[in-house]
Amino acid sequence: MRREDANKLAGYVDALRPIIYINHFDFHAVDELIVSISKGVAIHEYNEAGHYVDFKNKTPKGVIPESDNLEGFLAAFDDNSPQKVFLVLKDIHRYFSIDSHSYKPELIARLKSIAQRTMYNDGVYVTIFLVCSEFILPIELEKMVTVFDIPLPSLNEIESIISDYAKSFQIQIDENTLNELTVSFKGLSDFEIRQILNLAYQESGMIDVKDKNLVLKEKEQIIKKSGILEIVPVNSTMYDVGGLASLKKYLRDKSRIFNNLGEARKFGIDLPKGILIVGMPGCGKSLTAKATANQFSVPLLRLDIGKLMGKYVGESENNLRRAIKTAEAVSPCVLWIDELEKAFAGVGGSGGASDITTRLFGQFLTWLQEKESSVYVVATSNKLSALPPEFKRKGRFDELFLVELPDENERKKIFEIHLKKRKKLTEAVDVIKLLKVTEGYSGADIEAIVKETVETAFISDDRTVTTDKLLETIKNTKSISVTLADDIKKLKEEYEKYNFKKANAGGVDGKV
Ligand code: ATP
Repeated sequence: MRREDANKLAGYVDALRPIIYINHFDFHAVDELIVSISKGVAIHEYNEAGHYVDFKNKTPKGVIPESDNLEGFLAAFDDNSPQKVFLVLKDIHRYFSIDSHSYKPELIARLKSIAQRTMYNDGVYVTIFLVCSEFILPIELEKMVTVFDIPLPSLNEIESIISDYAKSFQIQIDENTLNELTVSFKGLSDFEIRQILNLAYQESGMIDVKDKNLVLKEKEQIIKKSGILEIVPVNSTMYDVGGLASLKKYLRDKSRIFNNLGEARKFGIDLPKGILIVGMPGCGKSLTAKATANQFSVPLLRLDIGKLMGKYVGESENNLRRAIKTAEAVSPCVLWIDELEKAFAGVGGSGGASDITTRLFGQFLTWLQEKESSVYVVATSNKLSALPPEFKRKGRFDELFLVELPDENERKKIFEIHLKKRKKLTEAVDVIKLLKVTEGYSGADIEAIVKETVETAFISDDRTVTTDKLLETIKNTKSISVTLADDIKKLKEEYEKYNFKKANAGGVDGKV
């Protein structure tokens, strides 16, 4: 338990915040925290099994009538007589879901009533702690609830946890192992760290650098269990991206900071937040997101904001909190948010967005702004008009990039990449001759042309890929500028209104 956490929580209690929501699974740790700030105030607990129990030894208490019933328990504290107590209510979130069988609006009303007495009646100081392993908040209580997050251990704290553990079991641990493990444990809770140490010790009777693998496995488990994020295999590098020179140079520079965060921070550099890449469909936005993870040598996690939407009040927010916590747990990582415009459609615009979407957007923006973890966000989108204006201002993301249809030089590079990938960049192909006739083609169009020509060559007699065969395929392939002419025209007009950094600028190709 950290002193800062205790001070912060005590601050909320002193400021008469009537309801404090602590979303945590480790009730033992939360109990310790509450006791540490209680200063002798009586603590009454209603536990997850539905009983009124002694806070210290958890044995049932029967003093209050109908004590094995939350309503009866709360009713005893819902009056104006002077009192100073803490009520600790565990895992009662199931009563808050409007769609659940357990939903109890009368309980919510009771909590609100007690909270109001604390806010407005002299002498009534009842602080309610909602300690729940899930975060579900009824709208009626929203304004009265303060959410208290217990932050994950810092690097210094992790180091102490490992050293203390080693000392208690008389395990020798050298400095290098301690440093390496400390960094790899970052993002895990106190409880998870101890579990891994236990596992390592039970397996080998010692703790060494190889135990980092256990940490990695644990982190993979965390992602899988969360069910919200997806690990995307990273097979692409910046060499697979043709053109987009200035974007690639930017990311290469950022990777030098990202790979030396400790040093960079000491030097006074802010932690990189991430970028927003907007632009034409099929022109390498997703490809760049994947290559970024490779360039940064970190895992790539994809967040589908559409999947976060839940039907219960607070469920979507809870899902986003979990997604963020999960990403932070596995950081350093790249968090890729594809089709950002779909996630937050209508927010701040005339289209109108649902309350949930607006709230999620606010939550996401706050996180992005205050982010102190090494989660690098790469958001991609092609519909600028559907994005909330907040995203388009600098300061939320570190940089905003615009990806346009590839110019001649870029098309040359893209042809070469895809031909080379299929081992067909031979003397029989004069790429220069393909460029004039592929104006308005996207990277995806070019890839499709190469693929088709290679396929046709395979079933032909001579099995060669030549300039003429490629030209023939081009003639039969409509570019995106033709198939989606109206959309592309609209997108172009839209992009012209904003002064985004041009991803395509900066010469033939950025060095990577
Ligand atoms: P969307 O907005 O439709 O999601 P996108 O810009 O994210 O499109 P990608 O998914 O990156 O497009 O591109 C699709 C495929 O086209 C890529 O997997 C790649 O093979 C090819 N491609 C597109 N742009 C390039 C490029 N600049 N260099 C090399 N290949 C490219």
